[in-house]
Amino acid sequence: MRTPILAANWKMHMTVGEALAFAEALAPLIGDAEGVEAVVAPPATALHSLGEALAGTPVKLAAQNVHFEDKGAFTGEISPLMLADVGCAYAIVGHSERRHIFGETDEMVGKKAGALLAHDIRPIVCVGETLDEREAERTFAVIESQLDGSLADVPAGRATDVVIAYEPVWAIGTGKTATPEMAQEVHAFVRERLTKRFGDDASRIRIQYGGSVKPGNVFELMAQPDIDGALVGGASLEAESFSRIVLFDRTEESSS
Ligand code: PEP
Repeated sequence: MRTPILAANWKMHMTVGEALAFAEALAPLIGDAEGVEAVVAPPATALHSLGEALAGTPVKLAAQNVHFEDKGAFTGEISPLMLADVGCAYAIVGHSERRHIFGETDEMVGKKAGALLAHDIRPIVCVGETLDEREAERTFAVIESQLDGSLADVPAGRATDVVIAYEPVWAIGTGKTATPEMAQEVHAFVRERLTKRFGDDASRIRIQYGGSVKPGNVFELMAQPDIDGALVGGASLEAESFSRIVLFDRTEESSS
């Protein structure tokens, strides 16, 4: 049984005040969020305050990035130790914006995932192909090599603490969503690769879909056998919209 995990990636949006207002608005909308896990990843400046606001609620705190060292001369970076200190349960690593804008490699993503696990923070490891790669029919090869590199430092026995987010780059922030069938095809491939690497544990690893998820399409996506959650950018910035995504199984397949 894989508990669905619905995560908000706010990227470079939200002041501390806005983050706190969101938390206040979200709480009554999702209640105890029974049967699902809701996660919010604010910018680093809001982690501490939002962490305090979320304490005692079912919503978990996540970071959007991390460095793999605990401390040192790495100006501008934040360590897993620091994320643990402010109560992060999760951290996103290898988001396509980190890979494509900031040049993160699979090796770096792998080290980050390993460092997070050492501090009992669960990594949300993002993988996904670009439009050019999809059109060149390289989707599976790209996903395979991203998974191999990004999971290289995950110790045996910790696989089920990892969440994979399959996010086709061409669907992020574009309004273009992979059809549920297209997403499922890649999720099944991811599960197959995870099984090769981690054996039976792979059946308990959650695989999120990300790319223009919104209240109107989350239900159909979540109905796919290997889609266990969503990583959501734009539609997670409003509490009402994110709450409908979190409660996908209790809202009607809706209009927006
Ligand atoms: C994301 O940031 O991971 C994402 C999927 O963004 P959006 O939902 O806006 O496409």
